[in-house]
Amino acid sequence: MSLIGHQEARRTVCSALSRGALAHALLVTGEAGIGKRAFAEWVVRASWCEAASDRIPCDECPSCRKVLSANHPDLHLVARDPDHEHGSRHEVTVNQIRLGVIPALGLRPLEASGHAVIIDNADEMNEEAQNALLKTLEEPPRGSRLLLTTSREDVLLDTIRSRCQTLRLSPLEDADVKQLCAARGMVVDELLLALARGRPGRLHELSLFDVPALCVAFDGVLSGRLAATAFGRACSEELDRARERLDELTQQAEDTTSAGGPEIDDTRLRRTLLDVLRTHLRDLVLLRSGASSSACLTPAPADPEQLPEAEPLLAADAVLMEAAEDLRRHIPPQVAWSGLGLGLATIGVGVRTGSRP
Ligand SMILES: [Zn+2]
Repeated sequence: MSLIGHQEARRTVCSALSRGALAHALLVTGEAGIGKRAFAEWVVRASWCEAASDRIPCDECPSCRKVLSANHPDLHLVARDPDHEHGSRHEVTVNQIRLGVIPALGLRPLEASGHAVIIDNADEMNEEAQNALLKTLEEPPRGSRLLLTTSREDVLLDTIRSRCQTLRLSPLEDADVKQLCAARGMVVDELLLALARGRPGRLHELSLFDVPALCVAFDGVLSGRLAATAFGRACSEELDRARERLDELTQQAEDTTSAGGPEIDDTRLRRTLLDVLRTHLRDLVLLRSGASSSACLTPAPADPEQLPEAEPLLAADAVLMEAAEDLRRHIPPQVAWSGLGLGLATIGVGVRTGSRP
């Protein structure tokens, strides 16, 4: 699919390409889910297109089509991958770089003027892998280009960052996200569109969840209608359902042999769920501070009076952050979600007993 949005970054790349001034090592940064990998692939098409006008790739010549379908012999995609010969579920390994990328770059390119390597979520390279890449980043073989994408550039070694030219992408306009959804045959849900805030990848993750149900459970535990363990269970069940929907979609993509979107793992699903809860919390604080429900991104609770005052609600953010940390530290999700429910219930109950004589 052709690239949608990111016009300013595109102009920067086209202008640099036409002056022969585009760096051979690029770091594409920006929030998760805004299409950094799609942009990196567009840069590769712009570099190799056989019919580009003003360096804008045509997306139709054989070279562009092969890049679009991830079938170009000179394009190498590197990402965390447990199915890869040298890969791992948890990180991009040093062997993926040392035995995969570096020898491939040493060979004569088959069709293009050089090789292109896209390292997706480059922050997932372990330190050894990053160190193994340094020399190649500094002096890649003639005509080759390396593109690293990341939403967490602070995690990368300084030595990696200093060897790359940074291209920072912004979230998309809602109109662009809608256009992207239409191109993918997705129905746009206004609630999810608002929550996605210009991040199509996040929109896709959000579409796996029942967002209103999550908000109702959140309101329930704060108002004391729902026990902490029941809230934990609701979160776990919602994650299970999201996984099932994801499996269905993956199966459909395989059946139709269409290219699937970027891989979504459990960590991303949990992050998305927490992001929904945090956004809803911000909305509740707004409502409690007197804002109208039109200022909210998530559904307003049926009875806002049942909720704690704004100030204790702000304290709930710390509870959410703690839960995120628990989940990151591989505490069993069931325990972490129930802990989150307990923390939130404590805030809710404390307020009600404190505010009512
Ligand atoms: Zn082309």
